[in-house]
Order: sequence, then C-alpha cells, then structure tokens
Amino acid sequence: MLSTMQDVPLTVSRILRHGSTIHATSQVITWTGEGAPQRRTFAEVGERAGQLAHALRDELGVQGDQRVATLMWNNAVHLEAYLAIPSMGAVLHTLNLRLPADQLAFIVNHAADRVVIVDGSLLPLLAPLLSALGTVEHVVVNGPGDRSVLDGCRPRVHDYEELIAGRPSDYAWPEIDEREAAALCYTSGTTGDPKGVAYSHRSIYLHSMQSNSGESFGATGADTVLPVVPMFHVNAWGLPHAAFMAGTSLLMPDRFLQPAPLAEMIESERPTLAAAVPTIWQGLLAELDAKPRDVSSLRNVVIGGSACPPSLMRDFEERHGITVVHAWGMTETSPLGSIAHPPAGADEEAAWGYRITQGRFPASVEARLAGPGGDFLPWDGQSAGELEVRGPWIAGAYYGGGDGEPFRPEDKFSPDGWLRTGDVGTISPDGYLTLTDRAKDVIKSGGEWISSVELENALMGHPEVAEAAVVAVPDEKWGERPLATVVLKEGATADLEALKTFLGERIARWQLPERWSLIESVPKTSVGKFDKKVLRKQYAEGQLD
Ligand code: ADP
Repeated sequence: MLSTMQDVPLTVSRILRHGSTIHATSQVITWTGEGAPQRRTFAEVGERAGQLAHALRDELGVQGDQRVATLMWNNAVHLEAYLAIPSMGAVLHTLNLRLPADQLAFIVNHAADRVVIVDGSLLPLLAPLLSALGTVEHVVVNGPGDRSVLDGCRPRVHDYEELIAGRPSDYAWPEIDEREAAALCYTSGTTGDPKGVAYSHRSIYLHSMQSNSGESFGATGADTVLPVVPMFHVNAWGLPHAAFMAGTSLLMPDRFLQPAPLAEMIESERPTLAAAVPTIWQGLLAELDAKPRDVSSLRNVVIGGSACPPSLMRDFEERHGITVVHAWGMTETSPLGSIAHPPAGADEEAAWGYRITQGRFPASVEARLAGPGGDFLPWDGQSAGELEVRGPWIAGAYYGGGDGEPFRPEDKFSPDGWLRTGDVGTISPDGYLTLTDRAKDVIKSGGEWISSVELENALMGHPEVAEAAVVAVPDEKWGERPLATVVLKEGATADLEALKTFLGERIARWQLPERWSLIESVPKTSVGKFDKKVLRKQYAEGQLD
C-alpha cells in the first residue's frame, strides 16, 4: 500500500525561502579585518540571492543545470551564491582555493563551469589560470582587488554589486526534482585526480535537518555559528545550509583565519558554536595561552577532518571551559558520518572515553566494518576493519564530468553500493566508532599494524609538543617502521631522548619509533590536515634525518 502523504521535494529553495522569511532577522556577520564587520540579515541575503539568480539567468545566460563556480572565502556573498545557484536549478561548484593551479584547472574543466564568482582578493590566483579554463565565459568579481590582472582575458568580467544592482529581489524559484544535483565538491585529490561529489537537493536538506538535531550540532535560532572550516571544504560541513534552516546567525571569518583574528572575532561577536580541523584549534589554543581573550560564549566547538588529539580536547575544556565535540566525515559523506556525544548517564571519566572516539552514526547512516577477506566484522570494540557506510547523504558514485556518466571505482564502492571510506577502525557494542588510521597511513611493521594516530595522540599529550605526525617509512627487517616528526612549542627544552621516554611509557614497546625528527612545522594539505605524503617524500629524499 502506498502512503497517503504528500510528495513534496526537499530542495535548497525551501531552505532559502524559510530562512529569509521565518528567520528574517538572523544575521550573517562577515569579518572585515578592520573597522566594523559587515552585517546582513537573512532577509537581505534572501533578497540579494534573488537578484543574483536574475543576473545569472538574464544577463549571463545560465540555464538548466549549468555549473557556476565560486572561488571565495567564507562571507555573506558566498552564502548568497550557495542559496541562489541551486535554487534556480543550476549547480554550485565550490573551488578549493588552496589546490595547486593544475588541479584547479582540472576540476573547472571537468565540471565545465560557465561562470566563476571570485573574491577580489583571490584574483591573483585566478588570473593566471584563465587561459586554461576553456568553458568559463564570465568572471564575476566580489569586493576590492586589483582587477587589472584580468585585462585582456577572454571571459567577460563583471563586478558583483553592479551585476545584481537594480534587479528584482523576488525570483520564481522553479520546482526541482529533489534528486537533482545542487552542489559539486571535489575531494582534495590526495590520491590521483580530484573526484567530484554531486550533492542533491534532498541530501543537503536531510543533512541540514540532522545537523540541527540535538544529537548532532543542535544549532537553533538562539545560536551564532562560526564556520572556520572553509565553504569549499565539504560545504563548510553543511553549516551554512543548516544555519539558514534553523535561523542560526553566521559569523563568517572571510580570509582572516589566523589565530589572532579568530580570537578577536570570537571575543567581540560571541559565537556559541564553531567548527574547524584540529590544526586550527591547536593554533587558537596557543594564541589564547599567549594572550588570553574572553571566549566563554562558545558552548560547543566541533572538531573533525582528522583525529582530534584527546589532549587538545582536555586543554580547551580545562583551560578555557569550551566543550569540544569530535566528529568524523568526508567529502563523500556530506560530511556528517558520526559524532561523539557520550551516552546519557555516563559519568565524567566514562564520558571522556566516549568523547575521544569518532562517535556514533546518526539514524540515516548505516555502517559496517569490512575485514581483509571481504567478511564483515562484529561490533565488539576489538575487530578492526575498513569502515563502509550507506545513507541518503552518502555518495553512491562520482560525477563523470561535463554531461558524462557517474563512475564507481571498485576501491571506493562495494559491489552492493556501500561507500568504502578507506578508514580503518573498530566499533564498540554500543555503536561508537574508533578510527585507528587511514588505510594508506597505517604502519605495517612485521605483520602487525601500528596506528599512526595513536602515537601522534600520545606525543601531542606532552606539554612541550605543539604538533606530531607519524608516518610509515621502509625498513629492511620489518617492512615498515614508524618515523616520528615533532614540532616543539616555542621555548621548549625537551629533547628527542625525553620524548622517546615519554612515548615509551604510553605505548607498547615494539611500537616505539627508532627514527625521530624535530621539524619546524608539519606540512599541511589544502584543507589544513597533516600532509603525510609530503613527510614520506621528505624522508625518502633524506631531508628528515
Ligand atoms: P581529504 O581526503 O582531502 O582529507 P576529506 O575532508 O574528504 O578530504 O577527508 C576525509 C577523511 O578525513 C576521512 O576519510 C578520514 O580519514 C579523515 N577524518 C575526518 N574526520 C576524522 C576524525 N574525526 N578522525 C579521524 N580521521 C578523520
């Protein structure tokens, strides 16, 4: 029997309409670095999104599901693009501004982007690429920047404000099939060419609802959220859409992502929630220790994207009264895959045990652990396998480029359609995921596996260690052995012998690295994670002895 319920498509335009009317007075605050931040209400953002849609359709000729790219920081205009482009039926393609030029050109051409909206401050990055971007017909520049770098370029150049000025703010948003693509995001290409994940209207809508649930981030209209995570990194973890749905004000850091301005904006704008990768929070913690600021407005800070060292969570809580919530996800999972809230009733010490895991899966995310022989492993907290997931906001394929067919590489999707995450870990009987490593980072020493994350977490628990990254290096006897690279805090006096003794007291003897290197800083990927590929290369080239 079919249900008797209405079949109403779940679309981004619904989020746009709802946010700009029901939550008309919520704010988008964009940090400007000097003077007062720029403030816009959700009503204004909605009106300007309507104007942008008119401009894109009537002036630039964007039709159907054509791709419109953004090369932008987190700011109010980027949010307008986030809402307008999918709502008019086109596809928003967020470009990662830290990708190497050849990868950026690759993804723009692969997606066949017709328009690029770019922050003026990023023109020096875009201009040299333009001759290689065959499909781009229009460049729309937002805000100040040296536009002369675009002189003589083939695409037509427009000023964002001039382009939207005087256009109607209401737009007859079309009724769109909820399964259509709304936004396109490429993985950062740590292995091979970047691969595109096309989020649907439905996946964004459902993900936003889950994000706003008390089981996840639990944002409401009484909150202000600071997405430090860039809007080009998995849609800033879905926070802009979720915020517009719940009426949560957004504090947008624009390009001011260094610890000092972050501390300043937290103190003056008093956000209640924030989200970023661990390296950002490490930096902020050091900044707050050096120059205390009032950050007491933050009730929850979401850390994900890499394993969060337990010492970082404890330091934030004990020194600054901020609760850190650890979450796991990836571009292919929109990204909310699991989140570590302790179960009801756990006492403080037990709660810590849960909070340092990658957490539990929401109802819509099914999970299983695949063993080496293709069998599925029990949730016993012991059996380690590759995590596979399935659900309405999990990718089932990659975008094929242009109008090409989607593709499903065997190492990424199981024959029955689950996403193979490439992450290795265990799941406890009560459903908490603990990741020990990425499959490609695990250290295979004499038939045993060493978790690089476990060693890093132990090392980062040393009071004088700022950062530590452990990678596998070739070893004649054992196949692979760990190499520990360590960044000491300023003024630290510990030497490698002391660190070795410290680590030796915390891990199994046979796991203790023989090779150590003190370095200035750990190389980072385009989204701010430890770049172990670079470390392995530096070691191979003899730069880390
Ligand atoms: P990239 O592959 O470029 O890093 P993603 O942001 O999609 O881009 O990365 C997803 C990966 O990040 C996951 O597969 C996992 O390895 C890692 N990751 C994300 N969150 C966590 C976490 N909380 N703990 C451990 N690893 C994490």
